[in-house]
Amino acid sequence: MMYDVVIIGAGQAGLAMGFYLKKTNQSFLLLDKAKEIGETWRNRYDSLTLFTPRAYSELPNLELKGPRQGYPTKDEVADYLAQFASHHSIPIQMNTTVTKVTKEEKEFKIETTVETIQAKNVVIATGPFQEAFIPSFAKNLPNHIRQVHSSQYKNPTQLKDGPVLVVGGGNSGAQIAVELAEDRRVYLSVGQKLTFIPQDIGGKSIFWWFEKLGILKASTTSKLGTFIKSRPDPIFGFELKKAIQSGKVTIKPRTTNIKEDTFCFEDKSEVKVPNIVWATGFISNYPWLQIPNVFHQNGRPQHTRGVTNIKGLYFLGLPWQYRRGSALLQGIADDAKYIVQHIEDTKQQ
Ligand SMILES: Cc1cc2nc3c(=O)[nH]c(=O)nc-3n(C[C@H](O)[C@H](O)[C@H](O)COP(=O)(O)OP(=O)(O)OC[C@H]3O[C@@H](n4cnc5c(N)ncnc54)[C@H](O)[C@@H]3O)c2cc1C
Repeated sequence: MMYDVVIIGAGQAGLAMGFYLKKTNQSFLLLDKAKEIGETWRNRYDSLTLFTPRAYSELPNLELKGPRQGYPTKDEVADYLAQFASHHSIPIQMNTTVTKVTKEEKEFKIETTVETIQAKNVVIATGPFQEAFIPSFAKNLPNHIRQVHSSQYKNPTQLKDGPVLVVGGGNSGAQIAVELAEDRRVYLSVGQKLTFIPQDIGGKSIFWWFEKLGILKASTTSKLGTFIKSRPDPIFGFELKKAIQSGKVTIKPRTTNIKEDTFCFEDKSEVKVPNIVWATGFISNYPWLQIPNVFHQNGRPQHTRGVTNIKGLYFLGLPWQYRRGSALLQGIADDAKYIVQHIEDTKQQ
């Protein structure tokens, strides 16, 4: 079967593509390896509540039901994405893992666990968080220490009794540290100074202020965008700050090594804990994309606003693809619209 466009991944990025492609005459199909839409969100930790309020967690033309300034749970978002797909009748084939993509002359050959498909354009929307990154010294961990990456972490019952070291001070590390601090000693190892930002100011969500100040729309090349990009992401809300002040969470600098069951930090201090949660982020990996000259040496895609230098090949949903909001629910639509327009313009050439 030959399509004008095949989209790999039916998360928010793929669905936003589907929404705009439906307004064109292009034939298209979304492929996803998951059993059901929203699986990425459903698999995240049980207590995850979004840091973006409902009003800033929506795709085009479908409301996420509930108080506009309230924060949705991860399962609410999973349900919303499934509802979005059916509401807009987006053609999706689930249970289909893409195993190899090549380009032969003008067309792409997409090999999957189900069948081989041909397309004139391919959009890679497989998510910014693909493979768990764990520092290499973790290989020295003795077996009796329970270790879990934030992407596998569900709730405190996965850990042994006793204290825990959470490594990584992003929003996931912060939320997990606060949850674990309810009934155990928590050390949080961070590579840089934590900055906290309120979720609401003057009765308005911080995202309302971000919008007013142009922060969400600041592009990668703008002065404001360059400034924001150079700074670490702030922690939304003050729960972690309170837990640090009350002594429930102890901040440690960067973890540098492990000796037996002792964790060593940059300031030469050490702790012994039976549990570790790696909130150390993710790396992108596209082993199935077998087209030369797509990636920089660091493994990141070479692109401008998601358009690669391979005709017909696009990425969508990359962090800072074009703006701060590019990998967020609310920001994906603009980037998707741009790529659909690019595909339309190229068709006419
Ligand atoms: C802990 C956490 C909290 C977050 N909180 C917020 C928040 O509050 N607000 C917000 O706006 N954003 C938040 N985000 C960021 C962002 O919205 C999500 O990461 C979002 O899931 C990215 O959507 P996506 O469609 O780009 O990728 P994904 O949701 O990861 O979807 C990619 C899809 O591609 C499929 N796939 C991958 N490889 C293949 C393959 N080879 N073949 C077929 N299918 C494949 C997967 O099954 C998946 O369904 C958060 C992220 C994390 C990790």
